[in-house]
Amino acid sequence: MIQLASTRIVFASLLALLLIFAGTATADDVDTTVDWKVGVASVDITPQQRLLMAGYAARKEPAMGTEQPLYGKALAIENRDGKRVVMVTLDLIGVTAELREQVAQQVEQKYNVPAHALLLNASHTHCGPRYNSEGAQEYFAILTKKLVQAVGQAIDSRQPAELAYGFARCSVAMNRRTPSDSGFLNHPNPNGPVDHTVPVLSVRNPEDQSLRAVLFGYACHNTTMGFRRWLGDYAGYAQEYFEKDHPGVTALFMMGCGGDQNPYPRGELKYAKMHGRSLATAIEAAIETTQRTLRHQHPVRGSLNSILETVDLEFATPDRPDFAYPVQVIRFGNDLLLVALGNEVVVDYALRLKRELHREQGPAVWIAGYSNVYAGYVPSKRVLLEGGYEARSRPWKPSLEERIIGKVHELVDKLPAAE
Ligand SMILES: [Zn+2]
Repeated sequence: MIQLASTRIVFASLLALLLIFAGTATADDVDTTVDWKVGVASVDITPQQRLLMAGYAARKEPAMGTEQPLYGKALAIENRDGKRVVMVTLDLIGVTAELREQVAQQVEQKYNVPAHALLLNASHTHCGPRYNSEGAQEYFAILTKKLVQAVGQAIDSRQPAELAYGFARCSVAMNRRTPSDSGFLNHPNPNGPVDHTVPVLSVRNPEDQSLRAVLFGYACHNTTMGFRRWLGDYAGYAQEYFEKDHPGVTALFMMGCGGDQNPYPRGELKYAKMHGRSLATAIEAAIETTQRTLRHQHPVRGSLNSILETVDLEFATPDRPDFAYPVQVIRFGNDLLLVALGNEVVVDYALRLKRELHREQGPAVWIAGYSNVYAGYVPSKRVLLEGGYEARSRPWKPSLEERIIGKVHELVDKLPAAE
């Protein structure tokens, strides 16, 4: 028996050598022929305890049930040199500084992901928990633990992958600042600026090109509903529908600069579902589902670099300390530049940055808002001077737009040259 076993081992080794000699792929070969290793994880973060709803101050009673589970999802991307970025997307109102700090600290300790390589983004659903309120400590602890675990799972599950960027458009969002004799009203304005882009980063298996994950963005409040049930709103449905239509694929929603954008119509659940379906369909268009020849998928390759710094924003109120505003930039080679801004950023920032960062033959530019901190609106200078709802949130000095835009350019220039 022993002799037979060793004969088998010798035979197997010879066969393996022959295969390597003949140029057939080995495990090592696979690693060097692909640019990326990507892992993804998804965790249910629906509160199991009675908690207040976040987003509208009028709801003073806890949630009464679950319309749709809320999720936290993690996408871990590693390049050939072992450099990583991890993006965490959340069906929550925002990313509080405390949540960001707790998750970043533990993720750095446990998985060696530096803070600048971790992006936390929230969908701004108004049917999620007010997780920083009194009585939510237990949920906050569970949430933090689950998100850290999800990051670990995403990193552990990484596999060789190909990345591609494409985009489509979706017209669910409408500007919600309507001028009137008594100032700007919070009311749908079909003439106001919008960003209808649906950027999509797709993750595919190199062997058979099957889809494993999509990270998609959109700039619009998740405020179709404001009832007392847990719900991811239109972004929750877009993720749910896309995942149902592509079994085994994880869809992650990255909120854009939708500070002054609402989905219309709103107020009825059927509209949240319709808007979700529209957005899920736009993802299909962006990845060119049903097209025999894909002409608009830009392969994402090359080096991976990230940077996260804060810029001090000043208040007009005397003695109020400056706000340390986080700006994060992640660059994938010369193919994709992702800028993640904190707070509720209005659409002017996305439109301006995409214009100013555009380079002929340069990377696609993706601007996310609602990232890494959640502390009120960030109006543009225009919106601040016009007044209205988004301008009243904080007594900013009008210098905030130039300071934020300047910081983005500074960080983009600071990144090592793309390879
Ligand atoms: Zn908001």
